[in-house]
Amino acid sequence: MAAAEHQERNNDLREHMVGILFSRSKLTHLQKQVCSHIVQAIRKETVRAREEWESSLSCETLGTPGTPEEGQHSAPDTYCFEMLSMVLALSGSAVGRAHLAQQDHLLRHLLSLLHTGSARVQRQVVALFRRMLADVPPQSLALILGVEVLPAHDYASLHTASQDQDTAFDPQKQGILDVFLAVIAKALTVQLKTKGSDGGKITVAQGKGGVTSVTLATAMPTPAANSPRWWLRGHTTQKQADLIINLIRDMSMGKLSDTWAKVSKAAIAENIINLTRLHESDRSCAATCLATPTLWLALASLCVLHPDHVDALSSQHWQATTSSGDPHNPEPRPTCENHDDGETLAMILCEECSSNLCGECDRILHLHRRTRHHHRTVFRQEQEAIKVDLHEGCGRTKLFWLLALADSTTLKAMLELRGESQRTRGSIAATTCRFCGAPAQPSLLSPAPVCQDSDCQEYSREACVRTHDCGHLCGGLKGENTCLPCLHGCSNNPSLKQDADDMCMICFSEALSAAPAIQLECGHVFHAHCCRNVLTRRWPGPRITFTFSLCPICKVAMSHDVLGELLSPILALYEDVRRKALMRLEYEGLHRAEAISTPGARYHNNPAAFAMDRYAYYVCFKCNKAYYGGEARCDAEAGLGDEYDPRELVCGACSDVSRAQMCPKHGTDFLEYKCRYCCSVAVFFCFGTTHFCNACHDDFQRVTNIPKAELPRCPAGPRAQQLEGEECPLHVQHPPTGEEFALGCGVCRNAHTF
Ligand SMILES: [Zn+2]
Ligand SMILES: [Zn+2]
Ligand SMILES: [Zn+2]
Ligand SMILES: [Zn+2]
Ligand SMILES: [Zn+2]
Ligand SMILES: [Zn+2]
Ligand SMILES: [Zn+2]
Ligand SMILES: [Zn+2]
Repeated sequence: MAAAEHQERNNDLREHMVGILFSRSKLTHLQKQVCSHIVQAIRKETVRAREEWESSLSCETLGTPGTPEEGQHSAPDTYCFEMLSMVLALSGSAVGRAHLAQQDHLLRHLLSLLHTGSARVQRQVVALFRRMLADVPPQSLALILGVEVLPAHDYASLHTASQDQDTAFDPQKQGILDVFLAVIAKALTVQLKTKGSDGGKITVAQGKGGVTSVTLATAMPTPAANSPRWWLRGHTTQKQADLIINLIRDMSMGKLSDTWAKVSKAAIAENIINLTRLHESDRSCAATCLATPTLWLALASLCVLHPDHVDALSSQHWQATTSSGDPHNPEPRPTCENHDDGETLAMILCEECSSNLCGECDRILHLHRRTRHHHRTVFRQEQEAIKVDLHEGCGRTKLFWLLALADSTTLKAMLELRGESQRTRGSIAATTCRFCGAPAQPSLLSPAPVCQDSDCQEYSREACVRTHDCGHLCGGLKGENTCLPCLHGCSNNPSLKQDADDMCMICFSEALSAAPAIQLECGHVFHAHCCRNVLTRRWPGPRITFTFSLCPICKVAMSHDVLGELLSPILALYEDVRRKALMRLEYEGLHRAEAISTPGARYHNNPAAFAMDRYAYYVCFKCNKAYYGGEARCDAEAGLGDEYDPRELVCGACSDVSRAQMCPKHGTDFLEYKCRYCCSVAVFFCFGTTHFCNACHDDFQRVTNIPKAELPRCPAGPRAQQLEGEECPLHVQHPPTGEEFALGCGVCRNAHTF
């Protein structure tokens, strides 16, 4: 903490000094020379970082990140970091910036460090790009990167260009933002739901519940170290990806320059449109598709989608009427000859039936053994049709063969291949499973066919049996009071902001229509079983926290009729913790703390949130009540989800080994114990004899083996550390460390200290 602050002050000073040195309108010869020396130094550091990165990639054991983590940058990156700090300081002045922007070599090094540098070096590089890019024309960056053509500013023409070009699409061709988007792509996780026979082609090990997580590093063949896109290797952290997401968003919003805004938006569009140009063999299954850089860069682009893209990118002929006036769509679009309503658009031509069919009719007519092998072609308009949506921070694109979504907050993505048998979920007429789209036989028991998969069977048992006026099946739960609004875009319910194709933001592995869903009071829709799972699993780790009970999208408390049974004990616990925390806050005299009383402060007028963030509570395994276990450590996150034994979480009243006296006012409600090995409030009670605080419990094998004579005296810090000074952190007199001690009633004890 202090070191970082020191570093920052150091940087400010440096920036100030360089600012004075370079404050003229022109650089002197000497100054230019200093600059070129710095660039030289950075070049050497870049070469070294690349070498280290390469060797870390080649000897990478499973699970270790490709770039050094925070804190591991002790010696090796110091020089590089110092040099970049100089450049950063230089970039603070307009003359400095202008000069730096012309240093092609420097830009080249920075682009390399973007992928190979340590975490703090990467942060500096991003900060530098933020300052410098406005002075670097996109053409210059293109030249440095070896990008032949900049994407057209007008996406519509981008789209037609893909139609006119009959030359094969080269998935290896580089785009102007690829080197940045790759940082995002390498942090993404794609969750694939592999059901029964469905996912046979995925070779990656399958996780729990038939969900497979794949990353670029596991799914894509590794590019050669000397290929132009060598940086499409390894993986990045969420933090690094977030930096780039913010940078690209600011670029497209015009915060750097208007030129870059246009180029960035076009580059994002280009990467998404490239999906329509993928070769047929690449789209045959999820595995082949995930093996292309095109898919990963498109997913990364979905994370930085700009609202402008939604209209501009969705092709004019997506479900367009037979408007022949459209310049991009000269031929009128044929309609389905089986529907014969002059309205339903055809998307497939069967040469053997010699008829134009819509997706659904095509599937039904070609289900039979005799017709199954008919040679059919998908209309070109359909092949190139693309729809782009931005729902609740989640970018989505829909093509005739693919539905891809990526969420920029969690960096999770979902992929659904529609294959040749067009899936039409939620449709009553189909002979495909209403949930997963696999072939299924109609049944008398349910209004729509359901396949034999055990999950789908389970979903079908609890699914609503009603059909909406629009003809779509209700996607809700059996017996619901009000039906879930139609998820197929037929409802004009203003609270509905998602649709059937949006992924469930709890499981991130299936579309909302793939299982019965519920709309929470906040308006957001999730799978019913996912909501139940979240509420049953509760908080991670021993300390009680309530974020799990909030809507993952808007953070409003989850609420729905069918969740009532699960929610009521959670609400009761919440009230209990809230009450106890507020009481403690008042007794400690903190209810008038600045963080609560100052307008604009984080907890202004919200003492409950302040108290609940400050104090840690645990559920007693014996009496099931919430008990106090000390102040929440700011690094509490680090221990989240750690293995622990819930049976060792016992409140003071239920572990009263030294028979403490009852408090005349509060009984044993707030009875607290001291950690046997330090002067902290105990959380754990182990072996039926010993109280531990969090830290001493983590380190119990060491602390319990310290001979009694060598234990620290009061004041003793966590992990049995000897503290300086005289005053006990708990402000009590107690027997020597190593003995059990009841602190008494927590509320009254603290009240006395004031
Ligand atoms: Zn199914
Ligand atoms: Zn319903
Ligand atoms: Zn509908
Ligand atoms: Zn779900
Ligand atoms: Zn919500
Ligand atoms: Zn208890
Ligand atoms: Zn302790
Ligand atoms: Zn003490």
